[in-house]
Amino acid sequence: MKTLVIEDSKSSLNLLCKYIQKIGITPIPAETGAKGIELFVQERPDLVLLDILMPDIDGFEVARQIRQLEAPSDWTPIIFLSSLSKDRDIEMGIAAGGDDYLLKPISEIVLAAKMRAMPRSIQMRQALLVRTRKLDAANQELRRLSSLDGLTGIANRRHFDEVLMREWRRAMRNGEEVAVLMCDIDYFKPFNDSYGHQSGDECLRQIAHTLSRAMDRGGDLLARYGGEEFVALLPGTTLGGATFVAEQMRRTVEELGLPHPGSPYGRITASFGVASAVAMPETDPQNLVGAADLALYKAKHAGRNRVFQTASLDPQDN
Ligand code: GH3
Ligand code: MG
Ligand code: MG
Ligand code: MG
Repeated sequence: MKTLVIEDSKSSLNLLCKYIQKIGITPIPAETGAKGIELFVQERPDLVLLDILMPDIDGFEVARQIRQLEAPSDWTPIIFLSSLSKDRDIEMGIAAGGDDYLLKPISEIVLAAKMRAMPRSIQMRQALLVRTRKLDAANQELRRLSSLDGLTGIANRRHFDEVLMREWRRAMRNGEEVAVLMCDIDYFKPFNDSYGHQSGDECLRQIAHTLSRAMDRGGDLLARYGGEEFVALLPGTTLGGATFVAEQMRRTVEELGLPHPGSPYGRITASFGVASAVAMPETDPQNLVGAADLALYKAKHAGRNRVFQTASLDPQDN
């Protein structure tokens, strides 16, 4: 442990350094306020003993400067030493960033006691900082995890809904179009029935991976919407553009060639519904999801393994 001692009286300085050395702490002597600040930066002491009345810069100002030099997470304890004994001086010392106050003449015993107590509060403060940092990291990880789907590792529906709302508002400001694409695996129940739930899960992971590779724009988001349903948000994309992406996804799923004897296609396929709209304040973006879902329903009825689109948000128009 290192203690910076800033004291303009040479005899007091020597005496303090001697006391400190006796209890096994290394003193760093400074005879002026300016030298003290310079040594604080150079030596980064664990504690500062600081005289108040000094010819160049007074102790209050030295304390203020030390606090400014420190990072917000650092706090080096400062103990003021002075013959000033008015309550106001104690108040000013604490206001300037001091932690404690010792009256001159300094008692060797009291000084030693304070010097031993200070590291305890430094350690507690540091332990608290470490804990706070760990907690921050854990919270960040929790936020990340709470937006992901546990099975596939892609975004979950909660996160999708949040991003949809955000992107909708952004599109509204820019007068842009937003597209949503819904995907549902065909004949997935019989797949589970023939191969078991674990193979079904593995299939979902592979599909999630395949779908995400078919999207190449930075702002695009793929999420698991429900059991074997996926949803993609394509901001700034027209109906034609989104239909193109969906068709690409449909083809890559089919090309995976996962055997599925229970399907008329003999392999795992998926159906897609696409919708897009220019973002308007009076429209709920969930209507866009509803429109994509309706198109998906039609794709299923038309025989599955295909892409259908809805041009309007109003189901009546289709
Ligand atoms: P369709 O072609 O009409 O979509 O038929 P489908 O059998 O895929 O559709 P349906 O909605 O009837 O069944 C969905 C099935 O998806 C039900 C369940 O067996 C399966 N499923 C849903 N979530 C999971 C999951 O997390 N893991 C697994 N392995 N299977 C799931
Ligand atoms: Mg002095
Ligand atoms: Mg389904
Ligand atoms: Mg299905």
